[in-house]
Amino acid sequence: MNFVTQFIIAISLGIKRNWHIFIGLLAGIVVGMYLPAQDFPVIHDVLDFIGQAFIGIIQMVVIPLVVSAIIIGIANIGDNKQLAKFGKKMIFYYAIITIIAVVIGATLALTLQPGRGAAEFINSETAVEMQTIVKETIDSQQAHLSNVFLSLIPKNPFKSLAGGEMVPIIAFVMIFAIALTKIGEINRPVVSFFESIFAATMKVTDWIMYLAAPGVFALTASAVSSFGLDMFSGVWKYILAICIGLALQLFFVYPIILKIFSKVPVRKLYLAITEAVMVAFGTASSSATLPLTIACCERRGISNKICSFVLPLGATLSMDGTALVQTVAVIFLTQAYGIELSLTLVAQIAFLAIVASSTCAGISGAGLITIALVLNSLGLTPEQLVAGFAFLFALERFADMLRTIVNVTSDVVVAAMIADNENELNYDLLNNPDSYKE
Ligand code: ASP
Repeated sequence: MNFVTQFIIAISLGIKRNWHIFIGLLAGIVVGMYLPAQDFPVIHDVLDFIGQAFIGIIQMVVIPLVVSAIIIGIANIGDNKQLAKFGKKMIFYYAIITIIAVVIGATLALTLQPGRGAAEFINSETAVEMQTIVKETIDSQQAHLSNVFLSLIPKNPFKSLAGGEMVPIIAFVMIFAIALTKIGEINRPVVSFFESIFAATMKVTDWIMYLAAPGVFALTASAVSSFGLDMFSGVWKYILAICIGLALQLFFVYPIILKIFSKVPVRKLYLAITEAVMVAFGTASSSATLPLTIACCERRGISNKICSFVLPLGATLSMDGTALVQTVAVIFLTQAYGIELSLTLVAQIAFLAIVASSTCAGISGAGLITIALVLNSLGLTPEQLVAGFAFLFALERFADMLRTIVNVTSDVVVAAMIADNENELNYDLLNNPDSYKE
């Protein structure tokens, strides 16, 4: 083995895993930029294959993890009063974070005016090709909205489990777990059963972490290679508005909220979850990142009781990054089409973005589907609607990767605040990463 190889191996073994993932992510961006998909389709397909395999492997643990986490979370919380208290706190913190997100999105879109003169970039030719997809999406959203409550009822929990329908699964598991807390000691075998499942899924997650660097590399490279940088040229203001909005949320809003409602040091918290954040960027899916989010949080001191209750619910039901991007996107389209934006319309868009983002699954691209709910309310002509949708589609993957980072971080921020308020955060672990023992 020559010196350079030995050096590289020594360095790779010596540095922490989050550096491996970070290097994978950077290498993915560089490779994606230099090997565009249209010139190197085979390489793109191989990268895409590796990336999809990685996502598939993580998704394998998501359902058993969500089910077991919520059951043991609620069983550990035990009494209903405490459960209601955690629930109320969650709703309160998520409401603040999401309302601020849409306010930031609307303010940026109204001041930067990214949609002014952008109509020419909204290409109606590509829109024609997408006509069917768009129509189906919009129709399904309309159907979805009117049936929104019915679709939450887990009529057949096993079917929901098999179909990966997160919201009905969570609804069922929560009811089931609360029932378990009501039946006394007789619940022990079932709770122990799910404790074992949880521990085993976390073990599998630990193994999966070894695949995170190549997985994130492949996902990032294949995504960047298919964007094509020219995509950004005409609509750079739109991209800028999204980037500024998400950055404000991450580096301004969360730190302030953490400071007001807890004594959690934001820097330590962010360092604790770097692996999960990078996987969120690569996979563009909060649900797929969930196992790593739980692992990172537990390892750094947030109690299992809080992690297993707050994080699965947050990863499924709360998406402030998505709400922010949807607000900017819809205001962008109204500006491009010259629709007059009254304050009421802006408020309506912001409100619908909150609803749309919470009905959105934590999977890649889900936010683009639920945005139809907001677009529907604008009174656009069908042609405008389709063309606007097609435009957003072109930028989707990039916007999705960024907003997923924010969606995952907000879950951690809320979990950390509740853990701090309830004395469920081990500050020794948060402040000294090396003190963690399996
Ligand atoms: N991909 C996002 C997430 O999983 C959801 C979305 O499409 O906005 O958090």
